[in-house]
Amino acid sequence: MISNALMSIKQRITKAAQQFTRPESIQLLAVSKTRPLSDIVTAFNCGQYRFGENYIQEAIPKIQALRDYSIQWHFIGPLQSNKICLIAEHFDWVQSLDKLKHAQRLNAQRPKKFPPLNITIQVNISEEVQKSGVYLTDLATLVQAVVKLPRLRLRGLMVLPAPCQNFEQQRKPFRALYIAYQQLQASGFALDTLSMGMTNDMVAAIAEGTTLVRIGTGIFGKRL
Ligand SMILES: *Cc1c(COP(=O)(O)O)cnc(C)c1O
Repeated sequence: MISNALMSIKQRITKAAQQFTRPESIQLLAVSKTRPLSDIVTAFNCGQYRFGENYIQEAIPKIQALRDYSIQWHFIGPLQSNKICLIAEHFDWVQSLDKLKHAQRLNAQRPKKFPPLNITIQVNISEEVQKSGVYLTDLATLVQAVVKLPRLRLRGLMVLPAPCQNFEQQRKPFRALYIAYQQLQASGFALDTLSMGMTNDMVAAIAEGTTLVRIGTGIFGKRL
């Protein structure tokens, strides 16, 4: 049941935050890809208001159907140039930005009637060739360019490491991202969001200082 699962995830977050002496203000993003509207409404009625979607064709009808709900929508899937306009018009956050070209288009397409689009830059920590995300070596350059775009508001970094079951192994990419995040803050960038951790590696991400976990199966059950 979604209400029980949500409660149990929140308890696990609180417990892990205490165990690793991290702040308990960790935000929970409910990843609702492949889930029906009714699941989103159920979670919303339990107090959950941040939702993440990966596929634009699937997300837009959901966002339109739920426009009377005060939901914060996060786009967390790969960005494609021809979908940028739809994303700029429908989402509150984009977590998967990794190219300046996409940042410039999002900036140009963000409607004036909306506040700036919140952004986290996706980092490819392990430099896997097939994966989305900017390499750490190119991160500072992208950050400097993104903060100059007035219709975007850079909030932080996001990572999606390769799945792995070993807890100590899981912690490594999160630690590397946390260090990059702190370095950017020390250089004067006002960042407040470190998006790391999913159902299977949430505790490792909390141990390494995440501020936002993205949970799908842990809330809604096995993916449909
Ligand atoms: C699907 C997805 C999640 C959620 O994964 P679960 O293992 O179901 O918790 C988190 N982040 C991204 C980017 C995803 O695509």
